[in-house]
Amino acid sequence: MGWCLKQRMVLLGAFVTWLFATASVAELARFKEYPSKAQKSLNFLVVGDWGRKGTHNQSFVAHQMGIVGEKLDIDFVISTGDNFYDDGLTGVDDPAFYQSFVDIYTAPSLQKTWYNVLGNHDYRGDVEAQLSPILREKDSKWLCLRSSILDAEIVEIFFVDTTPFVEKYFTDPEELQDHSYDWTGVLPREAYLSELLKDVDSALVQSKAEWKIVVGHHTIKSAGHHGNTQELEELLLPILEANNVDAYINGHDHCLEHIIDNKSGIHFLTSGGGSKAWRGDVKPWNQEELKLYHDGQGFMSVQITNGNVDIIFYDVFGKVLHTWSISKDLNVAAI
Ligand SMILES: [Zn+2]
Repeated sequence: MGWCLKQRMVLLGAFVTWLFATASVAELARFKEYPSKAQKSLNFLVVGDWGRKGTHNQSFVAHQMGIVGEKLDIDFVISTGDNFYDDGLTGVDDPAFYQSFVDIYTAPSLQKTWYNVLGNHDYRGDVEAQLSPILREKDSKWLCLRSSILDAEIVEIFFVDTTPFVEKYFTDPEELQDHSYDWTGVLPREAYLSELLKDVDSALVQSKAEWKIVVGHHTIKSAGHHGNTQELEELLLPILEANNVDAYINGHDHCLEHIIDNKSGIHFLTSGGGSKAWRGDVKPWNQEELKLYHDGQGFMSVQITNGNVDIIFYDVFGKVLHTWSISKDLNVAAI
């Protein structure tokens, strides 16, 4: 018996060691979406800040997304967060999931996987409900993780959970008086953030994709209402710069915006016009960097081929507001 107990203790010890080893090399969940089209282009739409039960022009934006989605034969949709206003979902049975998502994005072209990140408003509800596979059973296009990677061959897209970075949601007395946040799975915050930054950095370092795009809810650079997010500028931006990320895509500011950072060349793309839009709240910005600021509703499309990323912003009527083509000479890069 004694030997048996000892052996069990050794086994338990080994198991604990394995657990810690696993935890220290934890990787972000990874999904694959390989384009099957002959031309090998990958097409997707990006919308953010939308869930208002169809109001504030959400349904109009959804309608135009359906038209553009069909024209481009999109592979998937990216949502930059603030999926359900004002306070996320109350649980997996919250009817808002149908009223703001299932019954709104009904166009055939939009019945592709939606890669959702969480916004600050989502954290005011039951966060785990949005992450639950039960929602995917209700509507198979729904997919929401805190942070993950989408490997689409030509491009790797890194989804980063940005809300826990923002200090004021944890400490600002006014913020906490008005709202309560569900930090289940995030605390202790420091460990959560350092682990996440480490995972994003190592995934970017290892990435062999020709294009690297990072998606988060909060702005890094924006002339809009919320402006830059200082915590992300300090903690996440250096990782993007060090790993030659091509673009950072976000919502949070309820507008459509395109900034090219003079220093790093990174494209900062805000697609936060899924429903209610801000008006007349634009900060001055270097005009050389600010390529578009649309103070209204709309969305964005992205088409990626081997050497090109084509970005188009559309307003609530589906009118093209701004196009941009980012080119990369892959032959030069490969030498
Ligand atoms: Zn937000």
